[in-house]
Amino acid sequence: MHEQDSQILSSPIEYLKGVGPARADLLKKELGIYTFYDLLQHYPLRHIDKTKITLIGQLNPGLDYVQIVAKIMHWDIVGEKRGRRLIAMVKDETGILELVWFQGISWIQKNLLESTHYLIFGKLSYFNGRPQISHPEMEVFHPATLEAKTRLEPVYPSSEKLKARQLNGRQLAKLTEVLLSQIQTNHIPENMPEEIVQTLQFPSRYEALHWIHFPNQFNDYQRAKTRLKFEELFFAQIRLQRVRLARHASSKGYVFEKVGDLFLNFYNHHLPFQLTGAQKRVVKEIRQDTSRGHQMNRLLQGDVGSGKTMVGVLCMLLAADNGFQSCLMAPTEILAQQHFQGISELLQPMNVPVALLTGSTKKAERKVILEGLANGSIPIVIGTHALIEDPVIFKKLGFAIIDEQHRFGVAQRAALWKKSSLPPHVLVMTATPIPRTLAMTAYGDLDYSIMDELPPGRQPITTIQRNEMARSRVMEFVRTEIEKGRQAYFVYPLIEESSKLDYEDLERGYQEVISYFPSHRYRTVKIHGKLTQEQKDASMREFVSGKANILVGTTVIEVGVNVPNASVMVIESAEKFGLSQLHQLRGRVGRGAEKSFCILLTGSKMGQESRQRMEIMTSTNDGFVIAEKDLEMRGPGDIEGTRQSGALDFKIASITEDKELLELAAKTAEKVLEEDPDLNLAKNLPIKKYLQSQKGKTGWSKIS
Ligand code: ADP
Ligand code: MG
Repeated sequence: MHEQDSQILSSPIEYLKGVGPARADLLKKELGIYTFYDLLQHYPLRHIDKTKITLIGQLNPGLDYVQIVAKIMHWDIVGEKRGRRLIAMVKDETGILELVWFQGISWIQKNLLESTHYLIFGKLSYFNGRPQISHPEMEVFHPATLEAKTRLEPVYPSSEKLKARQLNGRQLAKLTEVLLSQIQTNHIPENMPEEIVQTLQFPSRYEALHWIHFPNQFNDYQRAKTRLKFEELFFAQIRLQRVRLARHASSKGYVFEKVGDLFLNFYNHHLPFQLTGAQKRVVKEIRQDTSRGHQMNRLLQGDVGSGKTMVGVLCMLLAADNGFQSCLMAPTEILAQQHFQGISELLQPMNVPVALLTGSTKKAERKVILEGLANGSIPIVIGTHALIEDPVIFKKLGFAIIDEQHRFGVAQRAALWKKSSLPPHVLVMTATPIPRTLAMTAYGDLDYSIMDELPPGRQPITTIQRNEMARSRVMEFVRTEIEKGRQAYFVYPLIEESSKLDYEDLERGYQEVISYFPSHRYRTVKIHGKLTQEQKDASMREFVSGKANILVGTTVIEVGVNVPNASVMVIESAEKFGLSQLHQLRGRVGRGAEKSFCILLTGSKMGQESRQRMEIMTSTNDGFVIAEKDLEMRGPGDIEGTRQSGALDFKIASITEDKELLELAAKTAEKVLEEDPDLNLAKNLPIKKYLQSQKGKTGWSKIS
């Protein structure tokens, strides 16, 4: 029975009465509607309330769209040229109303019937105190059909092309109505277990698909919408969680069975500080994951400065204790070097060899490192993408850390896996946190940990926004900080790595900084994409060592760099940066004991959105809050660190608006799969059937 039922829904759209080949072509091209079911899933944007008829005597400026039954008394054409319009006076038993047309006058002239009652619908306005509707929808009034006409009328998204070919929103409504009239209850089988539908008090799927288009009352529409949103999120979660479970069940991974001497020795004697609760929790999660014999694929989400590196170090020691090598991949050379220095220092008392491999590692040195990796004498290597280049062979790579992940693609990750017989455990550390709801959807097939706690004793960074006009005062402020022995960053926007313009901006900025901080007294260094690696390294070394007071740079300094003595960051043209980037940049200060400042210099003319971004930045330091706002402002498609995938393409649900529903859907899916991972129970058959019927229709297969 099911097979037949779903056949109606999968009928090609050209078989629908009123469609035909030409319109079908348009529907496919413009709206992606191929089948009956696709049309049913072309949901209305909203409904126009045509359930009521208003008396003219009751009209008032507080009303918006109104529907009226009235008789045409007379009409006239008035005005010249552009002002030419047709004005019709209509009346019911309570008053008189004016209708106005500026366009299509001759057509109206021909078709408007005097002394006839019309059903009139349109947006009410007032002109010289008189109520008026311009370009109303008009229909000759037939009392017998009134019931069918007064309803909540769906408004559909359409396109200019469709409108030009007689497929506007109203015509789409007609087609949908025709379709729904052909569909019976058994054509739309339930796709969720009865238990869920009942517990959540959802309408049936059949009802929901009717009411979303043609509800009898607004409440029905709301219920239908909730159900359809839930359904969409639920199936997304089922799919993602099954991918995760399947990986847990089938993937083979190295077993880290013991916590050994290296880990314990370091933990007990060489930790420079107490771990935060979050760090401890995450290390424990990873220890559990890596002891099970399945490959770990974990995303570590933590705010800037939450101490992700230390988690990585502990994991690498754990790997070494179990006889495995590990690598840490950073997105930039500078960052790799910093990690190398920091980690070498940490591990030095324990005599654990650590190597650094980047694009600029000298040939002779490279040879030694490659040998050490191949024969296993180097347990820990830190580097850039040079690590995944062909000649690098590991004896036994067991743990791979990808830091500040968004710059590494999936393909690069896959390349890492090829380096050992079993794939190593993978820990991806984010540069910027993304909201939980987004993580659940974009990374629902990974395991993820959240570090939502900063090490104690951090002073909040004070962030202020200043107009460019206030530049000299800002410079004086920076001077007082430098005189106290602190260091400062000046950051310029970088739109394209190689853009000449950006470079010129930066040069000008550099000259300007020099003019305030003359070189006989202050040392200012530059860093940008046009410099050679040696030049960049030299600048960076001077700044890190404290010899340079000021670092002027593009966003290449954005990620990860750690100079605790730097207490001021001035961001030029701050309105040109996105929220997460600003937050990343700001994270470069506030890393030491001193009070730190971030100054957002902006132009005087800012758009609404830029203004909003500046307000968010000055009001909070919490990366998770900022991520949430970023998602609200930009939508999920643009957030850095999310994958381009079908996972975020929803027809009706929205991960920004439907957070609670998403949590509920995720929990419900989890419960179902916990009890019945392969969906073999009779009650879960609807889920299984639906998944099968939807195969190949979404981008899910692309998710690795
Ligand atoms: P991120 O999460 O941004 O990568 P880092 O790992 O660079 O952060 O850590 C930021 C700074 O905080 C470093 O200087 C690090 O030594 C320090 N740190 C990390 N964990 C702790 C802790 N538990 N207590 C105190 N300081 C810590
Ligand atoms: Mg980091």
